[in-house]
Amino acid sequence: MKRNLDELRLFGGEPVFAEKHHVGRPNIGDRQRLHERLDEMLDRKWLSNNGPFVKEFERRIAEYAGVKYCAAICNGTVALEILARALGLTGEVIVPAFTAAATPHSLQWQQITPVFCDIKADTHAIDPDRVEELITPRTTGILAVHIWAQPCEIKRLQEIADRNNLKLIFDACHAFACTYRGRMIGNFGEAEVLSFHATKFLNSFEGGAVLTNNDELATRVHAMAQYGMCGEENVISVGINGKMTEMSAAMGLTSLESIDGIIAANYRNYKEYQRQLADLPGVRLLALDETEKSNYQYIVVEVDGRVAGISREAVITVLRAENVLARRHFCPGCHNMEPYKSRFPTLGRRLPVTNGVVQRMMTLPSGTAVSQNDVAEICQIIRLVVKHAAEVTDRLVRDKTIEILPVFNVDSAPSEAGCPKQRDAAA
Ligand SMILES: *Cc1c(COP(=O)(O)O)cnc(C)c1O
Repeated sequence: MKRNLDELRLFGGEPVFAEKHHVGRPNIGDRQRLHERLDEMLDRKWLSNNGPFVKEFERRIAEYAGVKYCAAICNGTVALEILARALGLTGEVIVPAFTAAATPHSLQWQQITPVFCDIKADTHAIDPDRVEELITPRTTGILAVHIWAQPCEIKRLQEIADRNNLKLIFDACHAFACTYRGRMIGNFGEAEVLSFHATKFLNSFEGGAVLTNNDELATRVHAMAQYGMCGEENVISVGINGKMTEMSAAMGLTSLESIDGIIAANYRNYKEYQRQLADLPGVRLLALDETEKSNYQYIVVEVDGRVAGISREAVITVLRAENVLARRHFCPGCHNMEPYKSRFPTLGRRLPVTNGVVQRMMTLPSGTAVSQNDVAEICQIIRLVVKHAAEVTDRLVRDKTIEILPVFNVDSAPSEAGCPKQRDAAA
């Protein structure tokens, strides 16, 4: 445990961890089982196209979520795109401004305009009180996000959708294995979309799924994910290639077998962060409702610089030097990303809560690669930095050799700067 500032890596000490601790380091299940499955797949010479592993994965995911249908897709983004198209969404769809770029892009990619809605400060989820004022004659749906593995206010959103004749769907990419009022995520709205990307709680290298209880919708989604084909010679619609490979399904099945251990590790880490960061002025851990099931995948902390006496950026800079790769997740907010930023430059004015959250929040490492002791070490550094906030800020500014993460300001959100030109990227 580091006890004084001189032990910090930035001020001459050794880093607390020799290896980098990433946010969202993949949870690897039973390697032996994965190898067996891959051998089985190679022996069978069935690598894609609705193979036995994909079918088994779909069955197991549907069973776990207690939902009738699961269509496995190559990733969460394509799953969102297919779902929007299968439901016939057009015109405008209301989405929270604070989410992965993939959420609005899945709409914009097919010429549906995402209309950004503000969020709630305590949960970071879409604010139902702000949804109705965004509805226009062009609105066809609401795409809400269960951010940080906590369901959004589903009941209120469903009421708004019903009242205005809109389709309600959920980006549940964070929220597999979570419940809302005791019912598993996957059962709400028209359908819900999962991601099994490597950094997600349950992974299939890359992967996604559409969960629904609507058999007609399930058939349409299944067909659209395989060029619109329904059977060997029957094309029933326009489609894309959104198929999950057998290799991904093999990894997904193997991950699923370890799910209890992953949740237990995440929960243990969450509770340790909660214990260690309690009563630290200006530092707030996003609280999850423990009466519901959660996968506890995300450790989200807000640093209020005015109260803590130190900026979030300074805290992250100190942590990174210690090999704790804290992240400003979903910063600077989708409304500050292209193409939305240029198309709707004044949008930020109606998103005050989002603008506050993107300036305060950071995510911290958890998962099976992080031990309870690691969490205690990480929190000790945060405590040390906050305790000596003024001195740390002073020393960071004084020492010109330290490159501090530039303080993020919503008015000067990055656009093309920092994005390598194609020529450089290829070099
Ligand atoms: C990861 C993620 C996506 C995209 O999923 P991919 O499988 O990476 O395409 C969409 N929305 C949210 C909220 C996510 O976290």
